[in-house]
Amino acid sequence: MTANLLDYDLEGLAAFCERLGEKRFRATQLFRWIHQKGASQFDEMSDLAKSLREKLKTSAAIKAPPILAQHISSDGTIKWLFDVGGGDAVEAVFIPEEDRGTLCVSSQAGCAVNCRFCSTGHQGFSRNLTVGEIISQLWFAEHFLRKHLKTSERVISNVVMMGMGEPLQNYTALVPALRVMLDDHAYGLSRRRVTVSTSGVVPMIDRLGQDCPVALAVSLHAPNDALRNDLVPLNRKYPIAELMQACRRYLAFAPRDFITFEYCMLNEVNDAPEQATELVKLIRQEGAGVAWCKFNLIPFNPFPASGLIRSSQDRVLAFARVLSDAGIVTTIRKTRGDDIDAACGQLAGDVKDRTDVQKRISRQRTVMLKPVSEITPRGRENASND
Ligand code: SAH
Ligand code: SF4
Repeated sequence: MTANLLDYDLEGLAAFCERLGEKRFRATQLFRWIHQKGASQFDEMSDLAKSLREKLKTSAAIKAPPILAQHISSDGTIKWLFDVGGGDAVEAVFIPEEDRGTLCVSSQAGCAVNCRFCSTGHQGFSRNLTVGEIISQLWFAEHFLRKHLKTSERVISNVVMMGMGEPLQNYTALVPALRVMLDDHAYGLSRRRVTVSTSGVVPMIDRLGQDCPVALAVSLHAPNDALRNDLVPLNRKYPIAELMQACRRYLAFAPRDFITFEYCMLNEVNDAPEQATELVKLIRQEGAGVAWCKFNLIPFNPFPASGLIRSSQDRVLAFARVLSDAGIVTTIRKTRGDDIDAACGQLAGDVKDRTDVQKRISRQRTVMLKPVSEITPRGRENASND
């Protein structure tokens, strides 16, 4: 069986090389070719002995899932849809900003958590992505962008695990994928530039803190259990008090960090000023709150089956004011890529028809496809404030 080398972190690749009777430094060389140079063919790897290249050709491959669609927004946001087989498609979104380039990465096809406001959740759960399928999103996007921007410098400076799926319910694939992102022989991202976003899988927050304490974002969405049980069903298993404790423990593993609480603004559901006051009490609770945190308010991205409405800008601002008046750093996420549905499972939500993904894609409303050379990751006016 051929191994897909995108499935390995450096340790895994070293073990693979050992099985081939090769020394460890070969694994480092290979790793650099794959992730730093974007090589997909062993013949490109000029400093590897011909005999090794031949051996690799019969035992290994470097293979990302095929791209089903690439959508480019007028604001420079790019969304790719990857075909992961069996009628499943997952997406990755590149968001260029003035001072950084962020890639939003998926961890599962579908999601079992089933939050009320999330179109990925509404699709149900299909399966966990492999390490290779997670890291392929970064591998493909980074090298695609470098090629088309004609640069040899790094384009993606930040990764957020905020695409489809609950990353902490795919922990065994998540951690090696994070290690590849952080590895200096691969993407060399600092752990503060890689964010895992979770709906609150408490035991796995603890494990992440021990194994790989990257930046943590927690999708809170409600100030009390009654409302959160309804919006994020996982709350029935891990209620808010336990989640807050897990956040506090996490910060002990990641000193000088803070937790980002995400809060999706749903009109007249969770967006009243009194609810903001309740949040302040929760977060500032003596001995039980989370001192080091910030809030990121996300305008709800509506989809028909949700029955929910995006909060007005006025309500979002009033809510934000309560938090910031209490001294909590609060940002409001700029919506990006609206014209290509670049938020949170929207496109893949549309194509989740196992019969014919390709056909449904072509039926999608036309999206603007600019020549890629026109996209620039720098100098955009649309800098986000998070
Ligand atoms: N499962 C993880 C990560 C993926 S979702 C989590 O829930 O944190 C990433 C973020 O997008 C989460 O904060 C989620 O609440 C938010 N989100 C999901 N659907 C959304 C929608 N329709 N509009 C706005 N934000 C949404
Ligand atoms: Fe899953 Fe996150 Fe969507 Fe909830 S918001 S259903 S956890 S992907």
